[in-house]
Amino acid sequence: MQAIRVHTTGGPEVLSYETLPVPEPGPDQVRIKVAATGLNFIETYHRSGLYQLPLPFIPGSEFAGTIDAAGAGVTGWVPGERVATAAGIGGYAEYALAPAAKLVRVPDTIDLKLAAAVMLQGCTAHYLTHSTYPLRAGETCVGTAAAGGVGLLLVQMAKRLGARVLGLVSNEAKAALAREAGADAVILYSQERFDQRVRELTDGRGADVVYDSVGRSTWEQTLDSLRPRGYAVFFGNASGPVPAIEPLLLSTKGSLFMTRPTLVNYIATPEELAWRAGDLFNWMASGEIKVRVEREYPLREATAAHQALEGRQTTGKVLIIP
Ligand code: NDP
Repeated sequence: MQAIRVHTTGGPEVLSYETLPVPEPGPDQVRIKVAATGLNFIETYHRSGLYQLPLPFIPGSEFAGTIDAAGAGVTGWVPGERVATAAGIGGYAEYALAPAAKLVRVPDTIDLKLAAAVMLQGCTAHYLTHSTYPLRAGETCVGTAAAGGVGLLLVQMAKRLGARVLGLVSNEAKAALAREAGADAVILYSQERFDQRVRELTDGRGADVVYDSVGRSTWEQTLDSLRPRGYAVFFGNASGPVPAIEPLLLSTKGSLFMTRPTLVNYIATPEELAWRAGDLFNWMASGEIKVRVEREYPLREATAAHQALEGRQTTGKVLIIP
């Protein structure tokens, strides 16, 4: 099969297009013939070495396709079933593996490409808005990279919950997309301080929660955008990781709460995964959530896909097609 492999960590050029044996499913795993793989920022962290994986490895944890084979101990899943996962192994390939416990069935009404597009970023937007800081109607949230993959979905889910959404984006084209998704106001954080604008837009009070995926370049303004006892949810490192923060700083900024969540702890049980994915598929079918697939790259062009994502050139979802 054709696959992308990383032998040494580094820039996008270390993504190597290779011919490899089709992987064999281990105990409690299934093998999936991949229809589409989702591109996610986490793969840039794996590739660069910010998050370490044993070398060599095939990147990619989010994909959809049909079950091709099942390993020992797998029950309840049969070859030919349409499935998707956000916690698979080696998704930048024609065939990939996934733990059976991390699969969801894709309803016939949902295209496999759309299923691949929504699993990881959609479950992330879901847990952030429904579990990490469950938004209530009338509350104000701020979201970074509001025209990005997680961002566009988070804006729509927050609106669905009745919250007021202030979206942060770097240019006018992204601002238009965030507004179209439902953002009540958009701030160009590449051109002005967003903490001051958030204060103005909340009559000096501050936001109830900031969902911050950018990290190093935004964390201070995130803390300064919050109301007393507000929530700083740092869930990404697009500009680099957030540095060490003294608990006393949270006290002086208004008894703030801070968390650094990650998806794996929010889809830890089959029930929780089924709840989040079920909501996503239902909202997609009813039109309450629209998934914007901006671009598809053939597998052999994974390097260009990473360059575009890290270069802030993408909006919505980018797929990799084997
Ligand atoms: P996006 O589509 O959001 O792309 C990243 C965006 O981040 C860019 O388009 C850009 O938007 C913004 N950005 C700001 N500063 C930089 C910078 N210095 N370099 C590059 N991009 C920058 O990606 P994803 O939707 O895949 O992921 C969004 C974030 O969410 C990532 O940080 C990712 O790690 C995190 N994440 C965390 C999860 C978790 O469970 N903790 C799960 C899934 C994703 P703009 O130009 O508008 O600023």
